[in-house]
Amino acid sequence: MNSFHSTVSRRNFMKALGLAGAGIGVSSVSGAVFHDLDEVTSESSEVKHPWWIQEVDNPTLEVDWQAIGKFDARKTVNGSSTAPYQYAGKEEWDKVLAEAAANFKQWNGENKPGWTLRDYILSRAVGGASTDFWVGPGKAPTPESLGIPRWEGTPEENSRMLRSALKLFGASLVGYTELNENTRKILYSWPYNAPFKEYVIEDVDQGYETADKFVIPDRPLWVVSVMVPCSIENFWTQPSLLGRAATSNQSRVNTSIANCAQEFLRGLGYQCLQGSANSIAPGPAFSALSGLGEVCRNTQVINPYYGMLMRNMKMLTDLPLVPTKPIDAGIWRFCWSCRKCAEVCPSGALSRDTEPSWEIPGAWHNTGKRAFYFDAIECQRVRTLFYNECALCMSSCVFTKRDSAMIHEVIKSTVSTTSIFNPFFKTLDDFFGYGTRADHNPTDGKYNPKSQEWWDLELPAYGYDLNKPL
Ligand code: SF4
Ligand code: SF4
Repeated sequence: MNSFHSTVSRRNFMKALGLAGAGIGVSSVSGAVFHDLDEVTSESSEVKHPWWIQEVDNPTLEVDWQAIGKFDARKTVNGSSTAPYQYAGKEEWDKVLAEAAANFKQWNGENKPGWTLRDYILSRAVGGASTDFWVGPGKAPTPESLGIPRWEGTPEENSRMLRSALKLFGASLVGYTELNENTRKILYSWPYNAPFKEYVIEDVDQGYETADKFVIPDRPLWVVSVMVPCSIENFWTQPSLLGRAATSNQSRVNTSIANCAQEFLRGLGYQCLQGSANSIAPGPAFSALSGLGEVCRNTQVINPYYGMLMRNMKMLTDLPLVPTKPIDAGIWRFCWSCRKCAEVCPSGALSRDTEPSWEIPGAWHNTGKRAFYFDAIECQRVRTLFYNECALCMSSCVFTKRDSAMIHEVIKSTVSTTSIFNPFFKTLDDFFGYGTRADHNPTDGKYNPKSQEWWDLELPAYGYDLNKPL
């Protein structure tokens, strides 16, 4: 039997809630009011949100701008094969890498679900099939080469124009943040991945790169944040190399979007600096600042529609834009009582605290946020032993669901209105058994059988449903 599709009727769900017969549109307890989802949209002319997503002035995760220090992203452990050496030492990490290689050899040799040759090659085929640029491919004509003036529009016109272009290039979510005295502090001093060249802000009009630096012009700039969803069917095979394939595939899509955006802006007479999806600054920070979601317990961003299965990418441009505001859909507050991701985490790396903290547990985190932090070394140890993929936290998250089921819209609109049902909704999610089970652990011989079923699915292009809102 295909285990990808779990169905629960709306009637049964409402019965479970004790709301059978009440129906949507009826006032419930504690002032929580359920509306039709299309009933009200936010006032913003740029992004239309349903009523249960509020635009706010500050991200829901508290930030102390004075306490934020310039961060060297070479200290980031997640997904890095070299950074863990800084913390775990050479002898210990060499052992982890040797064990990981032995695991892969055995699982691959025995055709274990998620680690067969076709799973492995799929993950490799989508990685490395694209090229990142700091200033862009540079092939599009420029206003100078055409002998015409550059594009001039109001920030509002520019914002709509760039959003439309980015959507055509493949973006699902687009947000803008102005670089000011505070948000400049979030820019990395060094990149997360190679080529390792220092980010330097100089008094020049145009960004450029040399053998040892990426130069950012000291001019008015805006951060363009883009998010693209990953295939939920791939993530439900976690941990497996099919999950890795989905992540790498979306990085490839993001790189393609960045290349197109660089050419588009260059052609209009503006600049667009990027480098790679993980370059310039931490994605969750600018995604949250620009309203693409809320930072959650596992330090990623959850979008109210797509959940946590999003890949983000940032670019810097001098095209004047209207910043988009952070949002509050009750997600951050939900995380305080949920902890599902921490419960399924095989490494115990995720915090189970009931309240976020200002104290960071290691140099892989930057200071200045009241967050739930995690032990990046323990996470990376398990990810490495699983041959560079785990993401059980992401695929089991209460918000990582297909949105076609009305029941999830009911939950999300309630979560945004009142927190009193939050513990109950988490229990309900456990009960219905969506997402990835916690006991899939290949190092214990427990492989996820969905990895075999995945190859027989009829998937949409890129593995995700584009008919979602936004
Ligand atoms: S579930 Fe896996 S990827 Fe997530 S924090 Fe734990 S070890 Fe890391
Ligand atoms: S599983 Fe729960 S605690 Fe973890 S990120 Fe998702 S909503 Fe937050």
